[in-house]
Order: sequence, then structure tokens, then C-alpha cells
Amino acid sequence: MSTPRIAYFTMEIALDAAIPTYSGGLGVLAGDTIRSAADIGVPMVAVTLLHRRGYFRQQLDADGTQHAAPIEWPVAELLAEEPTRATITLEERTVHIRAWRYDARGVGGHVVPVYFLDTDLPENDEHDRHLSGSLYGGDNRYRLRQEAVLGIGGVRILEALGIDVARYHMNEGHAALLTLELLDRSARAEDRTAVTGEDIAAVREQCVFTTHTPVPAGHDEFSLEMTRDVLGPRPRGLDRDDEFLVDVVDRLFRKEGTGADLQQLRRAGASLNMTYLALNLSSYVNGVAKKHGEVSREMFAGYGIDAITNGIHAGTWATPSFAELFDAHIPGWREDNFSLRRAIQLPRDAVWAAHEGAKRDLIELVRESTGQAFDPEAFTIGFARRAATYKRADLLFADLERLRAIARKHPVQVVYAGKAHPADQPGQALIRRVFDAARVLGDDVRVAYVPNYGVEAGRIITGGADIWLNTPMPPNEASGTSGMKSALNGVPSLSILDGWWIEGHIEHVTGWSIGEDDQPRGAAEDAASLYDKLEQKILPMFYDARDDFIGVMRNAIALNGSFFNTQRMVQQYAARAYL
Ligand SMILES: *Cc1c(COP(=O)(O)O)cnc(C)c1O
Repeated sequence: MSTPRIAYFTMEIALDAAIPTYSGGLGVLAGDTIRSAADIGVPMVAVTLLHRRGYFRQQLDADGTQHAAPIEWPVAELLAEEPTRATITLEERTVHIRAWRYDARGVGGHVVPVYFLDTDLPENDEHDRHLSGSLYGGDNRYRLRQEAVLGIGGVRILEALGIDVARYHMNEGHAALLTLELLDRSARAEDRTAVTGEDIAAVREQCVFTTHTPVPAGHDEFSLEMTRDVLGPRPRGLDRDDEFLVDVVDRLFRKEGTGADLQQLRRAGASLNMTYLALNLSSYVNGVAKKHGEVSREMFAGYGIDAITNGIHAGTWATPSFAELFDAHIPGWREDNFSLRRAIQLPRDAVWAAHEGAKRDLIELVRESTGQAFDPEAFTIGFARRAATYKRADLLFADLERLRAIARKHPVQVVYAGKAHPADQPGQALIRRVFDAARVLGDDVRVAYVPNYGVEAGRIITGGADIWLNTPMPPNEASGTSGMKSALNGVPSLSILDGWWIEGHIEHVTGWSIGEDDQPRGAAEDAASLYDKLEQKILPMFYDARDDFIGVMRNAIALNGSFFNTQRMVQQYAARAYL
């Protein structure tokens, strides 16, 4: 008998630069989680969707207009096909599902297999073959069908593969339909056609849910009409006493309205909300930073929601020059990320030399991808993340005259990167605003926008900048992880107090805050604080007190690199959610 495993379900995952099945932080976190689970030796498998056309390749016109092109990638060269198949029923058609395996191998050789589900099979209807097409593409109905493949198909594939599952971990609500499959299975095991409170209790016991965003658009919702259309009506005799039945199952499985409690109906709305489905059917729920836990408890009153702060996989995100430095001074740091606390005593000149190596790579990336010549001596601000409006990529440009005046005293250059979702017009306009500002600033403040942001560019930009800028509108940044990648490479943050930075920030020690607390303020006020910190604290330190600046760099590694990693994070999941 095989060891029961943790089954980690995720709609996106970043495992390899050549496998483009991720859009941003959620997928990067999934990949880093799997790598750390493999390092630690956690018995885990992961299930995701094979997005044959990836998310998209970003091309940018001279004015910053974004074009999205599909990506072709060689699936069979990178993944191993499993002979096992499973089927699900969607819109009354049988959909055949195949799985492709990727083995994530940890530092000690332990393997975590990742199964990519694929519907592109000749026996499937043309309509269904495209379900493993593009990540977050198509309409709401396409999304629901993809989520059914992931959640319901995923449970069935694991069963077909003979994998014994101890816990199902839903990385965001996209996989929450797995709970319905587990309910069905629990009832069938008892030869019942009706789901009872016992089934619900049994499923809850098996499920763990991590919620990732306080932004409402991040929580999937499907009309009950469409849900019935896609999944089929499944009338059952239900136990009315259980709150959950009224809240979700009753309304999902019954064809016509029942005597459901009105208040409950109002709370759930006239739709299937994947977040509520997961909340109702999980025994352990968490947000992804302490503050996000608080915000989530307010958003979803009545549910017990813990917090486990995100991390990054240290071995993956260390730039080559810092990996070499750590190898020389902190042997075993890959196996034991906590030992990075000893970075506090790294020789200053060695830290600076490693940083110069990382910065050279960044300047080379800028030259290659934009043709712009950056100055290796000039203070370089890095900003790279999804171009979502709440992240305010243009906050730095709120007062161009002020920025120019600052840069006259101490040279400043800025590297940007980030994709906007193809349907997100305001996000695309944000990219154009960065280009507009770049044009106006000209040579006074050089601004480069590196196209097609992904994990490869991500490592170079987060690791090679002199400061990592983050300007979200609080409390919308659930955690953020790019600043953790920077910290690991000795790049301090200048950030709004939101997400992980509330925990990682010590003023003038690990970096600097924009504003003095975590309350939302107007853009002008935040921009003024940003400019003040740059002008009065950061630039004078960088140019005139380099040793002090290197001290902050070491602190970033020792205090934040040693803690904000997925090795610590996975251990916390193991202790609180898995065991
Ligand atoms: C780390 C990373 C992110 C996450 O960035 P945030 O700062 O958390 O928004 C997004 N995209 C890529 C490619 C990354 O490497």
C-alpha cells in the first residue's frame, strides 16, 4: 500500500520556464510549494490543467499597447504521458481526460509528481478538446467547464492512478468542485443516492482551502442555471438541518426552489460561489499573510480562517551570483533555508560583488529586450508584477517634476515588467501610462518596460534591482511574493504596508515603507511619501553611505530571506493543515 498523500489542486503552476501554464503569483506560489514539498519529503501529488496555449505571450507596441499571442510549447518533450484515463460528464457529453506527469525532484531526491489534465483527445467532442487550451481564456462557461475538469476530473484521475489521498488542498477556489465529487463518492460508498450530514462531515475532514485574494473579481461565481446546464441536475433527498445544505448543495442539486432559509439564500446569492463552496467544505482554511487572514475573516464572517504567510523557493529564486555566495559562506542553505539568517555576517564586499553580478544580468536583459542602455552605476528601481490596476504601476509617476528633481541630485533608472489580462482594458491602459511617463521623462529618468514577464525575467529583475518597489492599494495585496525574491538576493523593498511587507518591514533595517501604516490613502499622499523616502533616506544612503546600504541588503537576506520561503511555509501547512 502506498503512503496516503496530500493532493494539491491548482489551476495554474510555474514549474519550469518552458511550461507556460501560469499567469502570476498564484502559479509561482504553486510551483514553489511543490518544489519545497519535494525538498522536505512531504508525501504530495499535484493536479493542474494542461494549458496547451499557455497564458499568452505579450508583445508591446512603441506606445505600450499590448498584444496577446498564444504560446505553442512542446508538451510531449517536457511531460510524460500516463496511460490512465478518466471521464466526466459535461453538458451531457462524456469528456475523456488524460494526464501528463512532471516530476518535481527535491534536494534530497524525493519526488512530487504533478499531473497535468488534458482533454485534447480524438474521442472528445471538438468543443471539449479545447478545454485544455488557454489559462483564464474564454467566457464564464468555459471557465466552469475547465474547473469541472480540474476538480471533478482531478479526483477521478487520482483514483484511477491508484493514489491514496489523505487531504485535498485547494489552492484558491478554482478547484472547489472537487468537494462535490467527494460528496458523491462518500454517499456512493454507503450505497446511498442522497448526500447526508455525515458525508459533509467526512468531506470537510479531508479538505483544506487557501484563499488568495481580497479582490472580488478573484472569486469565481457561476449562475445556478449554467451550473446545472454544465454539470447536470442531480436531485437528491437532503438533510435540511445542516446549514451547508441550505447554503450550497440544496440550491445546486435541486431543480426547483425549496423551502431554503431566506437569509441563507441571500448570503449565498443566486449563484454558485466557489469560495463559499470551498469554505463550507473545508476543515482548515487560511489566508496568505496575517493581514490577509484578518481581511478574509471580515469578508467571510462566521468562518474560522487562519493565516499562513506565503514564501518563495529559495533555491529557485537566488540569482547565480547569490547562490554562489551562499554556497561559499552558508553551506546547506538549500536544505535548510533558516540558516540564511547567518547572512547577517557576510563580508560586505562579497555581498556587493554578488549584487553587481545580478545587476549586470538585469542591464543585459534590458538591452536585449528593449535596446535601452542602462547605467550600471545608477540607482535602479525594479517593478514587475501583473498589470492589475490595484497594484498602481504608475504611482511612481504621480508627480514627474518631483521625480525629475530627485533624479537630478542622484541618478535614478527604472525597470518595469508585467502582463495585463487580455480582457482587462484598465490594466492595459496602465501599461500605456508607464510608456507615456517614460517618453516624457526621456533621459532624465530612464524607464524600460521588459515585455513578456515570466519566471525567467522575474528572477533577473527581482534579483538585479537596487530597490524593489511595490505600490498596491491596501488591503488588496493578499501577500505578494516578488519582494521576497528580492529580499533573498539582498534587494530591500520600498513598499506600501500591505500583505507580507507588514510582517517583513523594519524601517531602515530591511527596507522602507511608503506611508507609516497599513491604511489606504490617496495616490498623491502615497506618492509624496514614496518621493520623500527616496530623496531623503534611500538615495543618500545608496550613493553616500554604501556600507550602510549593504548593511540593509544583508538584513534583507538574514531577516526576510531566511523566513519568507516556502520551506517554512510548507512546514506550517504540514503542522496546521495536513497532519
Ligand atoms: C513572483 C512573481 C509574481 C508575483 O508577484 P507579486 O509581487 O506577488 O505580485 C508574478 N509573476 C511572476 C512571473 C513572478 O515571478
